[in-house]
Amino acid sequence: ASAKVLNQIAANGIAHHADWYVVAPVSGAARSEWAPHSWKSHEARQLPTYPDAAALDAATAQLHSYPPLVFAGEARNLTADLARVAAGEAFLLQGGDCAESFAEFHPNNIRDTFRVILQMAVVLTYASKLPVVKVGRMAGQFAKPRSADTETIDGVELPSYRGDNVNDIAFTPEGRTPDPQRMVQGYSQSAATLNLLRAFAQGGYANLHQVHRWTHDFLGSSPWAKKYEETADRIGEALDFMEACGISPDTVPQLSQTTFYTSHEALLLPYEQALTRQDSLTGDWYDTSAHMLWIGDRTRFDGSAHVEFLRGIGNPIGLKCGPSLEPDMLLRLLDTLNPGRIPGRMTLITRYGHDKIEAGLPKLVRAVKREGHPVVWSCDPMHGNTVAAAGYKTRPFDRILGEVRGFFAVHRAEGTFAGGIHAEMTGQNVTECTGGAVDVTEQNLADRYHTHCDPRLNAGQSLELAFLLAEMLND
Ligand code: PEP
Ligand code: MN
Repeated sequence: ASAKVLNQIAANGIAHHADWYVVAPVSGAARSEWAPHSWKSHEARQLPTYPDAAALDAATAQLHSYPPLVFAGEARNLTADLARVAAGEAFLLQGGDCAESFAEFHPNNIRDTFRVILQMAVVLTYASKLPVVKVGRMAGQFAKPRSADTETIDGVELPSYRGDNVNDIAFTPEGRTPDPQRMVQGYSQSAATLNLLRAFAQGGYANLHQVHRWTHDFLGSSPWAKKYEETADRIGEALDFMEACGISPDTVPQLSQTTFYTSHEALLLPYEQALTRQDSLTGDWYDTSAHMLWIGDRTRFDGSAHVEFLRGIGNPIGLKCGPSLEPDMLLRLLDTLNPGRIPGRMTLITRYGHDKIEAGLPKLVRAVKREGHPVVWSCDPMHGNTVAAAGYKTRPFDRILGEVRGFFAVHRAEGTFAGGIHAEMTGQNVTECTGGAVDVTEQNLADRYHTHCDPRLNAGQSLELAFLLAEMLND
């Protein structure tokens, strides 16, 4: 190794992990050398400043010695599934918490969010007549970008909360000090969450008849059943018909099992680097903290450390596209992140706001189409529609729907495939977003406002979104 590399190893205090510094050739077009640590020589925004460098090295060394959470082959399967979405042959449903938390770590929370995602997927499969690729914002969604580095309450200024694997939401100097051991706790919680998700997905909980029965029962107990009864009834009839033909969960494994992938924003790079491993089958690098990783709207600039990190890993990558993203910049990012133009590698998650999408999105769609980049277009109708009301951050349900409508309208007009939806949601009956058929009012927000970051759709609003999407898919 060169003196420079040795110095770097010494500076990072992780000489016993010399394999991190093997520079692997990145498949695809020739480009500058990439390594799991090469992001360190780029501009990193939104990363915490750890007060104790030795403690950070100890935590990342610990994580680096732990087993991967996902296997590279699974990430490749997701790329293949997303390639079908890019080709208009499948639909993507991505959803879960804005921020998972240590406090809300409970099997019921995992189960309920998983269940609602499956319920939504059944409705969407029926409506689109396409397979639905299910990806949770789960088992690793712990790090948050913030618009300000500090927060001031009653004249006291402290670092902003950056997610449970960075610091504590409690507004105290100790709580807000970044603690690298929190990453180890985040890893453990992710491992246990993923284990339960795999068990649910493969062990019979995802039985199609059962999932439909939940939707049926849910509608039965809700005052807005009438609105969606017809679609639900038709799904029930389709299932009955299949069963009469001998196609049932007992005979066809696809009806009793499902494939469920995980994802989170690849924000906390020391954590992501520690879980980045060279696949023994292909020699390529994968970030084994989740199947899919995405780059946030605040970290996708020219020269970004986050872009540098993600360009070298083999996982499918999401890119948040907000109103400030110009077509030229997007094309540069696509060339950097997917020079080989591998279908399914890139998912563009647009998040404009209900009033900006129709004016802003077409220029991106046209540029990407003109250059022939194979991408999945997915709609995040949450992050451009956050408003303040009654002292809370909330999102009006009709604006969320408005953005989804605009997204479909643009893609229809441009002749591109509206491939997916990306939602912040939970299986719990929270009161965080206003509106919906069971109307959450601004006065209700205080009742069950539990999110650690942004407001989520509750179980009813999530399912309602799926039914309304079903109508749009059939238009
Ligand atoms: C998020 O998905 O929670 C998020 C912060 O989104 P964005 O980067 O689009 O603002
Ligand atoms: Mn969010």
